[in-house]
Amino acid sequence: MDHQQQQVESPREVLQALARKHNVDVLSLEFAKLMDSQDPLRSFRDRFCYPKNGALATVDPDLVDPKEECVYLCGNSLGLKPRTADTYMQEQLDKWANTGAELHFTEPLPAALCDQYGREEVGRLVGADPTSVILMNSLTVNLNLLMLSFYQPTPERYKILIEAQAFPSDRYAMVSQVELRGYNPKDAVLEIKPRPGEHTLRTADILQMLKEEGSSIAVVCLGGVQYYTGQKFDMEPITKAAQEQGCLVGWDLAHAVGNVPLHLDQWGVDFACWCTYKYLNSGAGSIGGAYVNKRHDTREAPHLRGWWSNKETTRFFMFQECDVAPGVDSFRMSNPSPMMVALVKASLEIFEEAKMERLLQKQFLLTGYLELLIKTYLRSGQTQFPEVTIITPDDVRQRGSQLSLSFSINLHEVHEEIQKRGVMCDVRRPSVMRIAPVPLYNSFYDVHRFIDILKDVFAICKIVGA
Ligand SMILES: *Cc1c(COP(=O)(O)O)cnc(C)c1O
Repeated sequence: MDHQQQQVESPREVLQALARKHNVDVLSLEFAKLMDSQDPLRSFRDRFCYPKNGALATVDPDLVDPKEECVYLCGNSLGLKPRTADTYMQEQLDKWANTGAELHFTEPLPAALCDQYGREEVGRLVGADPTSVILMNSLTVNLNLLMLSFYQPTPERYKILIEAQAFPSDRYAMVSQVELRGYNPKDAVLEIKPRPGEHTLRTADILQMLKEEGSSIAVVCLGGVQYYTGQKFDMEPITKAAQEQGCLVGWDLAHAVGNVPLHLDQWGVDFACWCTYKYLNSGAGSIGGAYVNKRHDTREAPHLRGWWSNKETTRFFMFQECDVAPGVDSFRMSNPSPMMVALVKASLEIFEEAKMERLLQKQFLLTGYLELLIKTYLRSGQTQFPEVTIITPDDVRQRGSQLSLSFSINLHEVHEEIQKRGVMCDVRRPSVMRIAPVPLYNSFYDVHRFIDILKDVFAICKIVGA
């Protein structure tokens, strides 16, 4: 898809038209409340435990009402806890308490089979056949396991392409992969950078690099949504262009799953993996997910195995030849934890009910609303306040929920002050504050409160140059 050629409505236009229709100022609190009252997904907030100011160590109780809900804009880092998580977790604990080892084969979520749960639901979220996805391990483990199999360097083709400022763990993983094969990461881990003065990558530049360097690249492995800039990459054309050059293509979907539309089968992606604790709200460090395209016969591929890599029928034939499970299932090694799968279940049920299309419609408006308020009040040239720059692309097709902000003043001071006033968000080195209004549980009122707090902090704190 060519971004230049296709015109899409901007959220600003849609929001302004809505405000005009209801005869309210788009910047007013009234408009935020109106948008919330008309939000078909508004009731989903109650399905989550939404933190209150009083519980947060960073909040100053003299500045805000401890009984009031905080402004949680951190779902890109850790999604909130679904209320049903307690029930499903308790069921597993009770079953363990009451039946001991019988828990392996009794409902709900029989432990020995619990990684079979969620294939359909996860498949829908990533656009894959249910048999091509599995819950297993955690993200960096899966990334390394998949790379061990898919990264088969030769003297001519031995490089791995990642984005500059890739998530640290991904970078460490790729460095360890090339070192394991005796290559020098300085040469073998290729990093693509934005143009000087730009924050995000242009698809055309990625395609150009693939054309120039593709014949030496074994695997292209980028983040579907970049964790730092919030940029969503053009996954389909990048996948196709890389494969035309003979590269294999894997996507790290940590910030993409549950956040942007994904069509892994249709795009012909070779492999992908993700965690479930960001937009998928399944709890810190919870079980991860992986995808392997059906065209790969992973039984032939060299990789590490354990008993769970086997077909269920032969799993317990400890001393016999193994009968390796097909596809992505062969990458499993250990028996999965039903406690973690219970948490994933609590979350996926909500996604099934809310539906991704509706979440994306709300995302368009909600993140667009954040953008509109920032650009109205905090844009460069506004003398009243320090300058805030959104480094995430304006083009809604190149982003998800998150906007990454950089400030003309000390970022860490701003962060500390807004935290005291009940905003929960994070900053990432070297210089970005990540703000993610999540359609499942954030409101237009949350975004409005965030901007009010930011303006207050700017006005009160007189924070000077970074
Ligand atoms: C969150 C995140 C990780 C974290 O990895 P874990 O193995 O779950 O600790 C890795 N890579 C990316 C791109 C992430 O966003």
